[in-house]
Amino acid sequence: MTTRFAGILFAACCASFGYAHAQTADTIITNGKILTLDAKSSVVQAVAIREGRVMAVGTNDAIRKLAGPNTKAIDVGGRTVTPGLIDSHIHALRAGLTYSVELSWIGVPSLAKGLELIREAARSSKPGTWIKVGGGWTEMQFPEKRGPSVDELVAAAPGRPVYVQRLYNTAWITPAGLKAMNITPQTEIPTGKAEKDASGNLTGVITGGNRAFNFLTDKIPGPTLQDQVEGTRSYFRELNRLGMTGVNDVTGGGMYPQHYRSVQTLWQKGEMTVRVAFHFQSNRRGKELDDFKDYAKFTPMNFGDDMLRFRGIGEALTQGMYDGSTVGLIFNPTDKDKEEFCAAAKWAAEQGMTVHQHAATNRAANMILDCFEQVNKTVPITALRWQITHIEDATADTLKRMKALNMGWSVQDRLLYAGQIFLKVLGPEAAKVAPPINTGLKLGLHVAAGTDSDQVAPYNPFVSLRWLLDGKAIDGTPLRGAEESPSREAALRMYSLNAAWFSFDDDKRGSLEVGKYADLAVLSEDYMSVPVEKVGELFSVLTLVGGKAVYGAGPFAAIEGKL
Ligand SMILES: [Zn+2]
Repeated sequence: MTTRFAGILFAACCASFGYAHAQTADTIITNGKILTLDAKSSVVQAVAIREGRVMAVGTNDAIRKLAGPNTKAIDVGGRTVTPGLIDSHIHALRAGLTYSVELSWIGVPSLAKGLELIREAARSSKPGTWIKVGGGWTEMQFPEKRGPSVDELVAAAPGRPVYVQRLYNTAWITPAGLKAMNITPQTEIPTGKAEKDASGNLTGVITGGNRAFNFLTDKIPGPTLQDQVEGTRSYFRELNRLGMTGVNDVTGGGMYPQHYRSVQTLWQKGEMTVRVAFHFQSNRRGKELDDFKDYAKFTPMNFGDDMLRFRGIGEALTQGMYDGSTVGLIFNPTDKDKEEFCAAAKWAAEQGMTVHQHAATNRAANMILDCFEQVNKTVPITALRWQITHIEDATADTLKRMKALNMGWSVQDRLLYAGQIFLKVLGPEAAKVAPPINTGLKLGLHVAAGTDSDQVAPYNPFVSLRWLLDGKAIDGTPLRGAEESPSREAALRMYSLNAAWFSFDDDKRGSLEVGKYADLAVLSEDYMSVPVEKVGELFSVLTLVGGKAVYGAGPFAAIEGKL
């Protein structure tokens, strides 16, 4: 018996076994170019899946022998199959909260189009409700090469509160928005500056650092829990569309314990389609350690299961050691800031917790390492997989210090948007080796990839993979050279197996090997051979998480939800 299923052969096959206890596969995938990312970098034709895990990999013939009467067979027609992609540093849970209610300018091709989206939102939503664009874009992606003016926002959405944020450096707010936020010329904005006209009135343009924007966005009413759950579900599906099956979520400004209810709701319902290793941080400056002690009572390290699991503190132990989102910002922590940071680090080590720590600059990374080395002398951290994230200007010495503590380094395509700032502050020679990915890999450091989305880069893993390969900023400016740019396979490993290491999951996922979860993506085109400028346009046509088809498109659309 064979069943045609929307163009895909769901074969009830023909294997016979000479012994009684032979097990058959639930699903077989054949005719693929399957990049297993095992230690030998094996490329195979086929994979068999049983109970959500890889049962065997090999030739079409060998795998077909594992099919029984109820096995579903999927012929992928020569397409490339990769392990499911894992972003090692992303603010996914925060992005999910507002995904169904916020506007996004990620990937929007022009300012005119961005303003048109605001006009549409004003037409289609209730009068008086906020229209918000929360970062994730830069004027470099627009032919206009500029952000909006407040007048343009007012014209697009007359009388409405509108908030548009660019990266973490500028916000444009309409007069109705300023009124709703109760911001006056006298309001003190932490690390921020409100522009005023000649008569001292607010223009609606606010510049500053991260804390300014957290202060502002905290004043905008958030979505309901139902909106948050729907947003998280849709966002995960969007990640699945791009071949993603896992994230290391790193909290972020504006995230408090109540914001985890949406992902917990999906988890309780068994509706997660992305594996989430989550972290927590405290957004109360000076009270971080108090908060950690409280949170840890309810959420010990490793709490959860393979769909949602707590994996430590990140991306900031304390606000006082946060050096901002790019190079070139003023950062002079006091002795007290350093002491508080070290106390929190020591506490985390004593709890056996992992720490995933932000450092935009090499200078901050070295201050952080001073503390980590000191902690390690009394409470060893070498088995805890601590990490520093970003450090686009890292030196080999810094990476060696990290290697000595068996730490990881996660890099993201932040210079896709912020490359021009880096260039201006540190110059072209520094940009040519930023970040020094191959130096890190050669040292044997655990180096993983990601995006740092949602406010400083787009979440698309293929856009990030392209950036890993060619080092170009979003407007095409060449920055990083070939010397520090990884091979295609190395970049893919950084986006799968290496990222799984960061959450202690490299024995369960990140490569397609027997016993590991069947988390995989069938790609639209061959990642290994398309021209590099096409890598950013790839997407998944079939994504499996634990053997379940969480996303299907084109010839595989009918399989979604059916495995
Ligand atoms: Zn960060």
